[in-house]
Amino acid sequence: MSNVLFDPLFGRHAKNDAPFLMLEKGRALSYGDFVALSARLANVFAEIGLTKGDRVALQVAKSPEALAVYAACLRSGLVLLPLNTAYTTSELAYFLGDAEPGLVICDAEDAVAMTGILKGAALHTLNADGSGSLSDAADAMPAVHAVVECGADDLAAILYTSGTTGRSKGAMLSHANLLSNATALADLWRFTDADVLLHALPIFHTHGLFVAVNVSALSGAAMIFHAAFKAEKLLADLPRATVLMGVPTFYTRLLAEPSFTREATAHMRLFVSGSAPLLADTHTDFEARTGHRILERYGMTETNMNASNPYEGDRRPGTVGFPLPGTEIRISDPDTGIEVPQGETGMIEVRGPNVFSGYWRMPEKTAEELRENGFFITGDLGQIDPDGYLVIVGRQKDLIISGGYNIYPKEIEVLLDALPGVRESAVFGVADPDFGEATIGVVVPEPGNTLDPAALLSEITPHLARFKHPRRIEIVADLPRNTMGKVQKNILRQTYTSDA
Ligand code: ATP
Ligand code: MG
Repeated sequence: MSNVLFDPLFGRHAKNDAPFLMLEKGRALSYGDFVALSARLANVFAEIGLTKGDRVALQVAKSPEALAVYAACLRSGLVLLPLNTAYTTSELAYFLGDAEPGLVICDAEDAVAMTGILKGAALHTLNADGSGSLSDAADAMPAVHAVVECGADDLAAILYTSGTTGRSKGAMLSHANLLSNATALADLWRFTDADVLLHALPIFHTHGLFVAVNVSALSGAAMIFHAAFKAEKLLADLPRATVLMGVPTFYTRLLAEPSFTREATAHMRLFVSGSAPLLADTHTDFEARTGHRILERYGMTETNMNASNPYEGDRRPGTVGFPLPGTEIRISDPDTGIEVPQGETGMIEVRGPNVFSGYWRMPEKTAEELRENGFFITGDLGQIDPDGYLVIVGRQKDLIISGGYNIYPKEIEVLLDALPGVRESAVFGVADPDFGEATIGVVVPEPGNTLDPAALLSEITPHLARFKHPRRIEIVADLPRNTMGKVQKNILRQTYTSDA
């Protein structure tokens, strides 16, 4: 029997004694033991009566056992539905109602609340320490399980988008989508079985689950598995690692640690950033401090990764590099869909084996965003610079239209961010009776700095056409961010109004 994704990621490691997950207190789980655990779990799923194509919803803390549920689903032909641990019961009711899983796995603490929204699904518990009814059931099962045959188009997962711009949508990802992307990235980023990836990302999102885990497993690399990002813990384990994958906040937090130095990172091979824009300042500060240039890449739930700065060659701040091998990127006019001339800003569209087959049970939404010719309309605006690097300008939904003119928030944010004493900023539009939308900027000062909004405005306005001048600037302690470090402009739009 062959299974397109399970075989290369996990199946071939069944007899591999090398460490796969390095855990706290010197404990480690070998590849072989991990694969055996996946077989036991697969037997539990079969006993419940789950069959190929059924969904398994997983809302639990990050643990080796939780990751083994992913491998167990793959080998059983089941569709994993990983859910953000921050979701509340009422949010979960939507996801479970939408996906109709045959099994829901949650922390024992949440089991009672979950019982009310199961709608006929079986329930197992899995706690942060790996205990729970699922592990008990798995312990009683043999580590022998016949891998279920899965082809390229069989679904591996339904992954919900982060919900940054609206309600999360379930992206249907096939075995071939995930394998093609892992293969492209492992090759591009030169992964080998000598690598040790420091893994501090959540495993309910494409970055931590598919980019980090699939690339490592495909290469036979080990992962130092942290339950969550803690700068001190990361620093303590850094000497054992060769690669770190992070969201931009990882890097700003590491730079805030005096012990994060050139010496501490001298042995590292690669730092990757994605999921949200990396400030050019962070890129340059990071290089000044460590001598390493962060490699920024671009992707999303629906398409996996699309573009990456080069491994060898110039990693350019403020860009996400070139399309991945096998992936096409084009920039189109958002209104007509026609490709714009080189260098102009437009909608980023992506086509390739990495692109999903549609949103789960949302045929209209799928038809709106996935063209018949295979290009996915990402919702991100961007341009290709003269050297072929993709520059993301922002999300179309964040575009401000004031007095009939388009304002790209990033253009203003870049000016604000470059001012002394400014840590970061966010610019957004709010409803305005005169102009349709008015532009507001919120600015976070560097620690210990006091900023004057009027002074900031007078610094930036000479560089901006009059219609782009922010109506107002407010100084704030922090920007609202979701678990993936993405700035939640919808919250900012709700918080502020056009008049002070
Ligand atoms: P939703 O689609 O539900 O509104 P979301 O788009 O934030 O949420 P994800 O699929 O997790 O959900 O995130 C993909 C988005 O993240 C991209 O469309 C892009 O806007 C942003 N992104 C990812 N990597 C980068 C990057 N390197 N630079 C800038 N933006 C990035
Ligand atoms: Mg999105």
